[in-house]
Amino acid sequence: MRLNSKIILTIFPFILLQIIVLLIPTLLIFEEFFGKQIKDHINDSIVQVQSTLDSQLTAMEADSDIFSQSIVLNRYLKTEDESIRANVMHQVLLKEFSSFMHAHPEYIEISLIMPDGYEEVSLVNNRITNMTDEEQDTIYFKNIVASQSNFDINAFINPDTVKWTLIAARKILQKNAIEQTHSTEEVIKGYLIIKTDFDFIEQLLNNNSLIEHGFAIIHDASGTPVIMNLQDELIFKDQLTVIKESEDIKKFETSTWLLNGETYIIGQKKLIQNLFFSIGWPESELYQVLKRVSYISIINALIVAIFSMLILFWILNKLLIKPIIQLSVSSKNMGGGDTHWSFKSKANDELSDLANTIQSMGLGLIQQKQRVHEIAYIDSLTKLPNRRQFMDNLNSQYPSTKTELPDIALLFIDLDGFKEVNDSYGHDTGDLLLIAVSNRLNNVLRASKRINPTTAQPDPSQDHIARLGGDEFTILLKGIKERNTVEHISERIIHAFSRPFIITERELLIGTSIGIALATESGESAIDLLKNADTAMYEAKTMGKNTYRFFSKTAALKSLKAIEMKEELRRAINNNELKLAYQPQICAKTEKMTGCEALVRWYQPDKGWIPPDVFIPIAEESGLIISLGRWVLLEACHQVMQWQKMGYEVVPVWVNVSNVQLEREDMHQVIMNCLQETGLSTELLAMEVTESSIMQGVDSIAQLEKIQSEGIKIALDDFGTGYSSLSALRGLPIDELKIDKSFISDLSHGEDGEAIVSAIIAMAHQLHLQVVAEGVETADELDFLKQNSVDIIQGFYFSKPLLANDFIENLQKREVA
Ligand code: C2E
Ligand code: CA
Ligand code: CA
Repeated sequence: MRLNSKIILTIFPFILLQIIVLLIPTLLIFEEFFGKQIKDHINDSIVQVQSTLDSQLTAMEADSDIFSQSIVLNRYLKTEDESIRANVMHQVLLKEFSSFMHAHPEYIEISLIMPDGYEEVSLVNNRITNMTDEEQDTIYFKNIVASQSNFDINAFINPDTVKWTLIAARKILQKNAIEQTHSTEEVIKGYLIIKTDFDFIEQLLNNNSLIEHGFAIIHDASGTPVIMNLQDELIFKDQLTVIKESEDIKKFETSTWLLNGETYIIGQKKLIQNLFFSIGWPESELYQVLKRVSYISIINALIVAIFSMLILFWILNKLLIKPIIQLSVSSKNMGGGDTHWSFKSKANDELSDLANTIQSMGLGLIQQKQRVHEIAYIDSLTKLPNRRQFMDNLNSQYPSTKTELPDIALLFIDLDGFKEVNDSYGHDTGDLLLIAVSNRLNNVLRASKRINPTTAQPDPSQDHIARLGGDEFTILLKGIKERNTVEHISERIIHAFSRPFIITERELLIGTSIGIALATESGESAIDLLKNADTAMYEAKTMGKNTYRFFSKTAALKSLKAIEMKEELRRAINNNELKLAYQPQICAKTEKMTGCEALVRWYQPDKGWIPPDVFIPIAEESGLIISLGRWVLLEACHQVMQWQKMGYEVVPVWVNVSNVQLEREDMHQVIMNCLQETGLSTELLAMEVTESSIMQGVDSIAQLEKIQSEGIKIALDDFGTGYSSLSALRGLPIDELKIDKSFISDLSHGEDGEAIVSAIIAMAHQLHLQVVAEGVETADELDFLKQNSVDIIQGFYFSKPLLANDFIENLQKREVA
């Protein structure tokens, strides 16, 4: 889960909790507040109704008092004569009443009732009609008559209107006119009645806001409504009860009523005798209000929650998430090897501390990675890319997406004779030489680029020079389509190696063999290219070293065969499958056998005889020549010893010794061991070496001298094929000179050949060397050689090389010198 989702998930419950925690008390407070409000309102309404009624009652009492003192009224009542009252005073009194009514329009009727209950004067306002003038049976009349006090006010059903009416009745007392002087006692002369309807309260109730949902009723003790204001008139009619009739009139009550299945909060007040005010408000309304309040509160809370969440999120995002994301991006980039640290923070907080830690950690890691890379990919000695990096680099030239071959050339460089430097001067010198070589290679490439920047494009940023190991280097050139450019660079390299390297004040001359493979010609894959360049390098080596060779398929095929052959030869040596053939050497003068040459033979059942010209170079190249040479030496000595033991007259056997053997082995020791093992005497063993063995250096000459000093003769084989002049042979440990068979076969081709051969013979004799002519096949050749005093003849003319058993015949038939 992402950080921002987590934050939202964390914030949300808190805010929700806040809402719940805040909302519930709010609602509870609201409930209480509203409940109180309702009750207060009920109380207020009651007080209002009560006070309005009270003031009305007071006003009526006061008015009736004022009216009762009217002179007109009193005079009317004093007048005993009914006809005067009726005809004269009645009108005057009515006028008086009319002026009252005019001043107090709230009164619907002002009337005067005589003590007998007869309504003598009555003025009704135009709202009602006066139905009856016999009032003696009405309750209000009975009430006032029965009352102790002079004034009585109460609500009654007006017999004229059959509507609830406030009726104020006042006794009008006068001293009896007759008894006026005798007694002060007053007698009731009539009753002044003032009536008013309940319109003033109805108006009040109508304006009460509570009544919209509840009800307000003025009713009598039996529950009969006097005035009411409610939605459905009939609903409560039978259910209205008086809470406590005996209660003090000043007090009022609130309680709850269950009306029609609905709970009401009720306030009730006894207004006056037989008149009650009940006001009720359904509790459900309260919950309705509460519900509305809670909806609003929830919505408000949600809005607040959302806003606070957004703000909180915005702040957290700005202060935390964004920097963390930036930090993560920076770290990721750094993880990818980018040393640039993009995270910037001015804040001096834990996050920037963390960033600093990560940055230094990242830099440390990059450094470590660089070191690991160096260890893994850089050659510690020359600081060139090593084999691994070279392979990566090479592989990257062959993207799997591309079908065409890359324009690259690979130079496989191997130093010539590096091993000798190592052996002669030690590894430290060797190491220094390798460093110098890598520098020189770099210089050549840099110079090539300067000279011809368009053709060869060694990009210095690309690790195009690499050291594969030992004295092997590679150069990867890009943008190469033709051989010319590579040839040019290869020549420059070889030229660069013509100058000696100065290592620890020593001048070392070292050559280099370069194998070249072009991807477009012969590099289907990175591995192929490398293999082919390697093969071409071997080609260059066999071509005489210090040269370059392009990879060619035929040469490669040859080398492939060579590899196969090498394995087979190894097997043949180990399994003792080689044989020796012996070719006699005949004295030119006496034609007696003076010796024989041991020549190795290899028969492969499926391939037949394999000529030594083919497998000897392979044996030399692979080092197999060591074991092969030992075997030949041992076998030859063994054979001659055997012949000797068999009673034959034996001749010395000439064994061919390769320069590789001389180079790598202590041949003196090997030979002595062999003679000791076989018991052959030294004069029966002789050696044939080639020019290159002699020319190899001081070491091999010393070795040969040592061998010669044991009485073992040494012949210089194949003379004339190398470069050494005869004069150079002076003083060398050689007893015999074998003229190469090519000179002998040339004899038949004209005088030049003859001249050369006779000159060689003459000069060799001057150096006191015996001369052997090899490859003599014809009598003519023999004649010429004899005439020119050749000492020994070897060739098919006398005998082919023969296997041991066949050779015995030769031993028997030919006299031994
Ligand atoms: P090589 O030392 O010059 O040996 C003489 C070669 O001339 C032999 O060839 C031999 O059979 C051949 N030959 C002799 N007489 C005639 C002739 O009249 N006409 C012609 N055309 N050839 C004649 P082979 O046996 O094929 O050996 C070839 C080379 O192989 C040898 O040349 C030698 O360099 C090398 N080799 C043979 N055996 C050994 C060995 O045991 N050790 C070493 N290191 N090299 C050997
Ligand atoms: Ca030979
Ligand atoms: Ca030879």
